[in-house]
Amino acid sequence: MKYFYLSGKFVSPARAKISIMTHAFNYGTAVFEGIRAYWNPEQRQLFVFRLQDHFKRMENNCKVLNLSLPHQWEGMCQITLELMRKNKVKENTYIRPICFQSRLGIGPKFGGKSDFAMYLLPLISRLDSDRAMRLLVSSYKRIDRSMIPPDAKINGSYVNSFLAGQEALKRGFDDAILLNLDGRVAEATGMNVFLVKKNRIVTPPPSANILAGITRDCVIKLAQKELGLRVQEKNVTIPELKSADEVFLTGTGAEIAPVGLIDKKIINRRKIGPVTRMLSDLYHQIVLGEIAKYHRWLTPVY
Ligand code: PMP
Repeated sequence: MKYFYLSGKFVSPARAKISIMTHAFNYGTAVFEGIRAYWNPEQRQLFVFRLQDHFKRMENNCKVLNLSLPHQWEGMCQITLELMRKNKVKENTYIRPICFQSRLGIGPKFGGKSDFAMYLLPLISRLDSDRAMRLLVSSYKRIDRSMIPPDAKINGSYVNSFLAGQEALKRGFDDAILLNLDGRVAEATGMNVFLVKKNRIVTPPPSANILAGITRDCVIKLAQKELGLRVQEKNVTIPELKSADEVFLTGTGAEIAPVGLIDKKIINRRKIGPVTRMLSDLYHQIVLGEIAKYHRWLTPVY
């Protein structure tokens, strides 16, 4: 990419630098988003997926850390589109905005100065891949809301994901399932968890210390409205998850990813199941702008 965005300016990646004394670098005091844009080669159009929803969420999350975005969410969407246009992006892309405590100096309790940065990365979609993920039930528990709000996408909270993820990778798995302090399923390191059992879809509720993702919201709506399935938000135990007909993960990065193994338990013969397949196909068509009814989820860049 030719341009990133920092402190109100479009700058080259080489100039997008911050001081090592920055509060957010020292203490993790920042909030971020992960947004995807999909290139449709037939329409020669780039569609940003649920752009407004991501910046509305970011605006809310900033309040938790006393941060302020340089503009309201509408203005942030415009800057994002401008950044894509300046880079002449014509491929699947990941967008990473970060709003951070920018005061220089030590002391975690001092804050009061915000800055904003955004960068883009090419990122292929894995919706074409059927490979089922292998998950380890982590020995690390998901952060509890009595410690750090788990739904606020705070950079520092991702130490929790890092530790669980590293434990899983070292043991030969692809990702981890984190339980909450009640011993119920919370989520994976950066993805929400769903199970399918006899035409019913179940996913942990926000009270389970999850980050209730935007992809999770899409899947709930699509399962109900397009597939006519019953969706239940309820607490899930590990035995329930391991005995499901299908398990899948959702997230902006992971999209809709089938799960084939949890610890030593094989799920659906390590294959993508029929419900996961239908949701994944539908999601794929929607993000590429192929279903008119869901154009409201897309922002065309050009
Ligand atoms: N949980 C966590 C901890 C995450 O970081 C993410 C990714 N933002 C998700 C769930 C999924 O959220 P979304 O669908 O909004 O990307």
